[in-house]
Amino acid sequence: MTATEKPCPICGRPALAEFRRFCSRRCANVDLSRWLGGVYRVPADDQPEDEPEPE
Ligand SMILES: [Zn+2]
Repeated sequence: MTATEKPCPICGRPALAEFRRFCSRRCANVDLSRWLGGVYRVPADDQPEDEPEPE
């Protein structure tokens, strides 16, 4: 496995080369949604009702 040097900009976990600079496809989608301005259903990253992410 190859890990990138910088952590995931979305959640701060170690990023994987497989997902570029993100740790997972989900985080990549979150970033993409931000770029697109949230046109599509945006994975809510500020709402507490969203699926909890265990540390
Ligand atoms: Zn992440």
